[in-house]
Amino acid sequence: SDLAAMDRVLCDCRACPRLVAWREEVGRVKRKAFAEQTYWSRPIPGFGPADARLLIVGLAPAAHGGNRTGRMFTGDRSGDILVEALHALGLANQPTSVSATDGLELLGVRFTAPVHCAPPDNKPTPEERDTCRPWLVRELELMRPSVRAMVVLGAFGWQALFPAIAAAGSWTVPKPRPVFGHGVRVELASADGGAPLAIRGCYHVSQQNTFTGRLTPAMLRDVIGAAAAEAGL
Ligand code: SF4
Repeated sequence: SDLAAMDRVLCDCRACPRLVAWREEVGRVKRKAFAEQTYWSRPIPGFGPADARLLIVGLAPAAHGGNRTGRMFTGDRSGDILVEALHALGLANQPTSVSATDGLELLGVRFTAPVHCAPPDNKPTPEERDTCRPWLVRELELMRPSVRAMVVLGAFGWQALFPAIAAAGSWTVPKPRPVFGHGVRVELASADGGAPLAIRGCYHVSQQNTFTGRLTPAMLRDVIGAAAAEAGL
């Protein structure tokens, strides 16, 4: 598909000097538990079918998760919690996300992020977010025929998404822009005669939120389940 072709080109992107340096350094230094592994240390493209009806938007790859395994939400606790929820809802073929070759298939769902390279402290700069935006805009354009709903994990992804949607041009972005909150739902009217889009906010699946109970597995399932139902999954 055109989206698969875009994903391949994305893997060669070196547009952000700080992130290129960081993603490679993390792969050289490694974490003890993964000392025998070769880290991916490149941009991590979205994961899931090109005709997905539900898009889950994160923040950026994790240094020892996606940056190590080469697949988004794979190889760390955040990925486990997210994929466990998807499996419980019938949206993934297995409950774990361990490596790029573990056989995981998302059913009608795709993962993406507004920043495709692992940032120091999980904090991309506004400039890095803006530099990576054209990839998200293109992904939204290519997914236009199928996508009906989105779940956005955290305020960073939420704030990055609306300018990309506005640039993609298929839906009308409300002014002022909606404010992020867990469980917030916004419906965007079509701007091109196609279907509208339902966007839901959800606390990010980071350990900071899941260890403290700010985001429980039930809360995550509720938001994703509601979005999936609305997307016709
Ligand atoms: Fe390229 Fe995005 Fe990675 Fe920057 S964050 S180097 S724009 S893929």
